[in-house]
Amino acid sequence: MKQNISHGSANAIHVYDTTLRDGTQREGLSLSAVDKIRVARLLDALGVEFVELGWPGSNPKDAEAFARARDLPWSTSTIAAFGATRRGGTSPEDDPQVRALIDTGAPVCTVFGKSSTLHVREVLRVSPEENLRMIGETVEYLRQSGRRVIYDAEHFFDGYRDDPEYAVETLRAAAAAQPEAIVLCDSNGGSLPWEVEQVVRTVAAALDRPVGIHAHDDTGCGVANSLAAIRAGATHLQGTINGYGERCGNANLCSILPTLELKMGLRCLGSAALAELTHVARQVAEIANLAPDAHAPYVGRSAFAHKGGIHVAAIRRHPRAYEHVDPVLVGNRTRVVVSELSGRGNVLAKAEEFEVALEEGAPAAVLRGVKELEARGYAFEAAEASIALLMRRQSTSYAPPFELVDYKVLVGRRQREEAVSDAAIKIRVRGEVVHAAAEGNGPVSALDAALRKALSGAYPEVAGIRLEDYKVRIIDGDARGHFRKSPRAHRQRLRRRALDHRGSFAERPRSIVDRACGWNRVRPFGGQRVGLRGRK
Ligand SMILES: [Zn+2]
Repeated sequence: MKQNISHGSANAIHVYDTTLRDGTQREGLSLSAVDKIRVARLLDALGVEFVELGWPGSNPKDAEAFARARDLPWSTSTIAAFGATRRGGTSPEDDPQVRALIDTGAPVCTVFGKSSTLHVREVLRVSPEENLRMIGETVEYLRQSGRRVIYDAEHFFDGYRDDPEYAVETLRAAAAAQPEAIVLCDSNGGSLPWEVEQVVRTVAAALDRPVGIHAHDDTGCGVANSLAAIRAGATHLQGTINGYGERCGNANLCSILPTLELKMGLRCLGSAALAELTHVARQVAEIANLAPDAHAPYVGRSAFAHKGGIHVAAIRRHPRAYEHVDPVLVGNRTRVVVSELSGRGNVLAKAEEFEVALEEGAPAAVLRGVKELEARGYAFEAAEASIALLMRRQSTSYAPPFELVDYKVLVGRRQREEAVSDAAIKIRVRGEVVHAAAEGNGPVSALDAALRKALSGAYPEVAGIRLEDYKVRIIDGDARGHFRKSPRAHRQRLRRRALDHRGSFAERPRSIVDRACGWNRVRPFGGQRVGLRGRK
């Protein structure tokens, strides 16, 4: 890595994010190598000390992510690679999985080992003594190879419950090889806060290495267990953004970090960085293609939203009357739900920001438009360019740059060949009807190419716009169920993400193309053919 500066020593708590490894174990969450780098960049900007990028031995995608990370400058984060201790009966240098950790070039290697006799005997099928050697030798080998090493004691709390002496012995085996931290994992997420606090206190006193916590949320105590461990002396904290993770998730850093900083007076990121937390939580949800939890503590859209009349009146008099912390500290804001007046205020503020002069009556019309579209499943929070377009359309002098007449797309697949799509589009631009047709590797890419072709004569600047990514998100329920019950309602729930504009609308112009073209009809056909048809 070019610059891997660890700013850890200035912080009381060393924050280790595992969203990109443990977090991706969540059902329905999958990140490409490029997505992983985007998340890692956000974490770097947030001031997270360690970013675990993946498990290089487990899949080629992670190897690609490490290769991409190698050439990027990192300002606060150090990249970590995750893997297991060596296999039984071999040496670390002969274990390809351990070698793969070194090959990533990541300056930090995090290895997990077994703490419970049950796992050692039944899962690893090695002797308890061999397990101790596997731990010590792997940590030692990685350190000798010039890596910083963090040791994760998997299933530690369960192992400690069954056989405390052996569980602590595994930690001593790791400690003898001097890892940077020894992390106690509640891998099954079944431990309770007072138990975690007591065990961490005992272990921290028995070891001469810094102790960490890695909690899961299977009893809804992932956050509480992490806080309890830190109260008991843990100084290294592992968790994920938005609590993503297998089963019920990992401990949610978006809840733990503000609590540590604002309520327990412990420095994790630094106050300026904490104000980026809401933005990071929502961007990570966006990249993961998951709807952000509106009711998440600190970072949820509703975390500081006030609806009740009495609350609203009190908040107006004294903002902190119904808020436990100042939302600005975590990058969130107080919201009044949704009186016509406060909504209009938002629209006016946005118009100023976009430098759009709104005419009489336009703010209310924009607000109505937003409400109507949000009720149909659109989300404007991360699509400010779409808001700007809604505003511009309110002007009496607004002339649409083009009009969609109709389009169709056919998706097919010839035997043993890749799927192909053909799109044909008809638009009216400057009084002339233009037809264009194009092929793509899917319906959206075919439509994108056809629309671009149709527009290129009148607007050569479309050459500078490219379709970088789009995602289809089912807002609720089962897709097929909706199709069966209410195809129209389902279609309205599909959100599409469209163009990556260069220039002023670079942020996230979800639905620019939809809205511009009126692509509001997605029609599934039976068999192998799926069509998209629209008519304005
Ligand atoms: Zn875990």
